[in-house]
Parts: sequence; C-alpha cells; structure tokens
Amino acid sequence: MLNIGCHLSASEGYVAMAKQAIEIGANTFQFFTRNPRGFKAKDIDEQDVKEFLEIIKEKKFVKILAHAPYTLNPCSADKRVRDLAKEIFIDDLKRMEYTPGNMYNFHPGSHVGQGVDTGIKIISETLNEVLKKEQTTTVLLETMSGKGSEIGSKFEELKQIMDSVELKDKVGVCLDTCHIYDGGYDIVNNLDAVIKEFDNIIGLEKLKAIHLNDTKNPFSSHKDRHEKIGEGHLGLDAISKVINHPKLKKLPFYLETPNEIEGYAKEIKMLKEVYK
Ligand code: FE
Ligand code: FE
Ligand code: ZN
Repeated sequence: MLNIGCHLSASEGYVAMAKQAIEIGANTFQFFTRNPRGFKAKDIDEQDVKEFLEIIKEKKFVKILAHAPYTLNPCSADKRVRDLAKEIFIDDLKRMEYTPGNMYNFHPGSHVGQGVDTGIKIISETLNEVLKKEQTTTVLLETMSGKGSEIGSKFEELKQIMDSVELKDKVGVCLDTCHIYDGGYDIVNNLDAVIKEFDNIIGLEKLKAIHLNDTKNPFSSHKDRHEKIGEGHLGLDAISKVINHPKLKKLPFYLETPNEIEGYAKEIKMLKEVYK
C-alpha cells in the first residue's frame, strides 16, 4: 500500500487534519508546528489530541510529519537567531510528545558566510543540546537544494552532522525530490545510482520520509521551487519510479506541491494509480 499524505494546515487542530487526510485518501500528513512567520504555536488541546490518537489508530495511519518553521536558521552567524531556533526546537519536541512516536523535520539552515564546516558544527551542537534520551520523536534533517549558503544539499553534509550527534537513534533524513534534483542528484536519469550513493554515504536505514514534489526548475539549478506532480522537470514517470523503487516504496511520502486540498486529492489518486 502506498503511504501518502500532503501538507495540511494545522489551524483547526489534529482531528481536523486527520479527517481531511482521510477524505482525500491519505494515511498520513505533514503540518507546520507553528506559524513560520510569527513563530506562534497553537496551544495543545488535550481533548483534540486524545480523539486524534484514536482516529489514527483506527484508520491505521503511518507516522505523521511535523515541519519546523522554514524561517528558522539553526546555524546563523547571529547568536540570537541560533538561540531562537534552539528554543523553538525544544518547545516543538516537547509538544510532539503529546503524539508520541512521530517525526519532526527541519532545514539544517544557511551558514551565511561562516563556511560549511562551521555551519555543520553548529547544527550538530544544537541537536546535541535539544535531543533528549526520553523523546519518542525522530528528528529529520531535510535534503536541501543548495540555494544561497544552505547546508544539506550534499549527502556528505548531512552525514557529517549526524556523525557528531550523540543520540544517533533520534535522527534521520527526509529526502525532498525537488530539492535533491535542484541540488544536483539526477533522479530522472540515474535514480538507482542516487539511491546507492545515499546508501553508501548516509545509509538507507537513516532515510525515514520523502517529500514528494516536482520542480519548476531544471536539473542542478539550486532554486527550490516546487511544482505540481507531473507538471515540472521531474515528470510523472520519474516520480512514479521513486514511489515504486524497491528501496523506497514502503516509506511515507508527503506532498508539498503548490495545491489546495482538491489538487492534493487529485495527486494522491493519480499516484495510487501508478503505484504497483
Ligand atoms: Fe522543508
Ligand atoms: Fe521539503
Ligand atoms: Zn522546498
């Protein structure tokens, strides 16, 4: 069975997201933990969470994916910006424990001229400060497109970050198909080779989730602009090979395509049709 969901708005709470997911044929979803601009988080409503946990158990959802605000920069040169990222990670991870055993994805950040090595060092130090032995959430580093001074567009960089993390079983990777193609991994012509490279450098056991997006830009453009499935430079054929790849097909896929809910429903239906 294809494990698939899309990015949903968290403004009405967990039950509302679960119901919306079910309506469009999804068995998981992604959501922002808080407003990416103002960083404000909705208060946890314990009744909502309780009902949500019952629904996802009954409907056999796979792990849901929380996304940290993309406006955070955990490896900024400015201490206040780094501290804000840390504070938000800590609060988000605390909130995640209301829905135990799920995943939390974040962008490693931009080194803004400090250099890749310094950036990598700061990110792993941050993770060592915020990760707790008792947490049940797996924290995922997202593969990035390499726009500006973004860290994480090369598998080696993610590997280096994870190597310096003490609680290794608490971290993993979320692979974004738009980002890695933009970042110079040719999943249209060499999907097998890219997966092998991931396995050699990071290890496929670390790959926990896939952001399934087409891209508005050609190969290796380092731009990061998502496109609807089948309407960009990846195309439905390449995307279908991703979801059907024997090493990937059991993973959860999360759509982050430029769509309203009807568009997501259509994409989910289309992807289920090409899933073998
Ligand atoms: Fe992201
Ligand atoms: Fe993504
Ligand atoms: Zn993106």
